[in-house]
Amino acid sequence: MIRRALLFFLCIALTFVANGLVLKDDYRSPRNPERRNRKRTTLIILHTTEAHAKSSLNKLSERGEAHYCVVENGTVYRIIDRDKEAFHAGRSMWNGREDCDEYTIGIEVVGHHDKPVTLAQLDAIKELVSQLQNVYKLKDSQVVCHSHVAYGAPNKWHKKKHRGRKRCGMLFAMPSVRSKLDLATRPALDPDIKAKRLVQGDEYLSKVLYGSVDTMRKHYSVKGKAKSIAKSVNAKKVSTNKPPLKEIKIKKGELKKHQPTTKADEEPFKKGKLIKTPKNAEEKENEKSSKDIEKGSLREKAKLIKK
Ligand SMILES: [Zn+2]
Repeated sequence: MIRRALLFFLCIALTFVANGLVLKDDYRSPRNPERRNRKRTTLIILHTTEAHAKSSLNKLSERGEAHYCVVENGTVYRIIDRDKEAFHAGRSMWNGREDCDEYTIGIEVVGHHDKPVTLAQLDAIKELVSQLQNVYKLKDSQVVCHSHVAYGAPNKWHKKKHRGRKRCGMLFAMPSVRSKLDLATRPALDPDIKAKRLVQGDEYLSKVLYGSVDTMRKHYSVKGKAKSIAKSVNAKKVSTNKPPLKEIKIKKGELKKHQPTTKADEEPFKKGKLIKTPKNAEEKENEKSSKDIEKGSLREKAKLIKK
């Protein structure tokens, strides 16, 4: 009885509610003490775990592979301390800078890259991302998915270094989902393909990240307010005027600074129709190979960790 009561109070003590966010520390990673602090933070990277909550949380915590994990009911688990490096991006590059772990925050969302996540998760991600944007002064176009930054080494399918190693988190690039997250812009192009550092290895993914493919539109109705938010580049001005996480200390004036702009490297959303993209043989093959590659890279990772 006493033990049960103690356990109950421990759970309460480990739960924080900050501005609508339910934060829990039950899966804080034992790797925290050995991780170094990031020198800078220029991107927030969204992932999908492709697994159930329990196994995702166990794995993420054990290996220190994310800063946060958002489960189906919207609860946010803190895994690695916000200012430290989490090993979430693997082989990655953005704008010529390799090893994205050194300059990014990683948020894992329990779910799949091609399936809708829950509305509770979207609400929690929106709040968490908004607070982090305020802290690190990041624009909407600096909130990306793992598939934006992951790249693959040459292999039997691709002769060159290529984008498209993973489709992880790709739904978070779709306009209907970004609209739900109050994100008015996204990267307009792949800087590393433009600079010929990488070649395109997954045409379908490219259409999702930079084109008009939006398979989530049918799940998330983009109505009145959300639509106008998607259109308006100033929407953030209204929605981010909130205080940050309790643990964060920022001066009052700093909170209003973050406002998205429409520079050439950002793409404001246009009104888009759902474009049906029937899977052709090539896409199916791509999907299959990307899954195979993912499995391979997981094995690779596991080996590295063992070392
Ligand atoms: Zn990922």
